[in-house]
Amino acid sequence: MSDIILRQVGLPGGGTTDIGISGGLLADPDRLQPGDQIDASGLILLPGLVDLHTHLREPDADPAETIASGTAAAARGGFTAVFAMANTNPVTDSAARVRGIQARSQSSSAEVVPIGAISQGLAGLELADIVGMHQAGVTVFSDDGHCLMNSQLMEQALYQVGQFHGVIAEHCQDHDLASARAWRPTGGQQSAEQLSTQPMADPFPTISGGDEDWPRSAEAVMVARDIQLAQATGSHIHLCHLSTAESVDLVRWAKSRDLPVTAEVTPHHLLLDHSMVMSGDTTFKVNPPLRDIEDRLALRQALADGIIDIVGTDHAPHRALDKTLPINRAKPGMIGLEYALAVVIETMVLPGLIDWPILIERMSVTPAKIGGIADHQGRPVMIGEPANLTLIDPTRRQQVDRNDSLSLGRNNPYHGLDLPDPVMATWLNGRLTWQHEALTDRRAGGPRADGS
Ligand SMILES: [Zn+2]
Repeated sequence: MSDIILRQVGLPGGGTTDIGISGGLLADPDRLQPGDQIDASGLILLPGLVDLHTHLREPDADPAETIASGTAAAARGGFTAVFAMANTNPVTDSAARVRGIQARSQSSSAEVVPIGAISQGLAGLELADIVGMHQAGVTVFSDDGHCLMNSQLMEQALYQVGQFHGVIAEHCQDHDLASARAWRPTGGQQSAEQLSTQPMADPFPTISGGDEDWPRSAEAVMVARDIQLAQATGSHIHLCHLSTAESVDLVRWAKSRDLPVTAEVTPHHLLLDHSMVMSGDTTFKVNPPLRDIEDRLALRQALADGIIDIVGTDHAPHRALDKTLPINRAKPGMIGLEYALAVVIETMVLPGLIDWPILIERMSVTPAKIGGIADHQGRPVMIGEPANLTLIDPTRRQQVDRNDSLSLGRNNPYHGLDLPDPVMATWLNGRLTWQHEALTDRRAGGPRADGS
């Protein structure tokens, strides 16, 4: 791992500097041998991004992603740490399985932090060994993919994580409300009386995966419940992938009372809306569904205001065969690690809703704090700090191609769109984990992108 010097690199708060990377740390360039150098004029050096919500799909007998491919995609997206959701096969619901993930990800292209399941097997019936998993290094617990419906069990889980200042990350979806029984052919506008007098609609409707079978109330009731339980227990609840303006209002209420509540939005809920689902393309089927344009605007404003604390990708790769099904049977979820920063720049930075320091708060500093890794991730760009970094070109753009991806997933909702192409290089503890081909011309004296 050789030293490198970035010349005239932009800092997030403004201004430029020369800075070195040596021994896994940011270093004084005057103390380094003038060997490998990057002309970084016009580029900005950010702390590496941290994703609190990644599905790496490993272990699994036939995985839609692996730790190697998922973290390669993460590095390409500018991430230096990802939190791996527990809904693998088998589920990460014991200390032994936590250690298994840790062992598998020793040399991966991003730091992998296992999330532990709240309930055994994600079944929602009995608590998993939360204390044991914490002793193995877990601080964030989630049944994501499922909502923990049993309120009493959720209260117990919150009490348990409160003992060690852990976090419960909740997938807010009332499964009774958001079920096939609740499917409404006209978009949820009919009364229960109307529904009860009508013949059952086609059980396999052409268009599904949207508000019709996953009403916005199914999210709001769980957001409200979890805020109340956070108040009752004093423990930290993190609300994943919020999708509606009502959820934003509830979180605003919680924050006005200083409750231990944080919230997350995905890149796809910032950029896309329900009209994409109406095309019938299963790529756009996701939990929670893409909502209305008004929701999208409310989510953007909440992220700018800090009512929503972080961006979490909910990167959810699927095998092609699980998406080439009628939309009601296709698996929900879309990939996101490689395009999260591009989407946040497009929806938040370019329109002037946030600047670079706020972007860093939402995508690096705060997720690192929530996840308990703020001692080495989401650090200031300063000499002596760990070299977990991403170097970006804020002006570069790309036309997204789903086949140009390091993720194994091809369920890319941005395919064909014109978006920023910001990430020039990523370093994990001083190790180069991604380099854009456009950086080659800016390098002197060091190894080239192809290793020659
Ligand atoms: Zn989820």
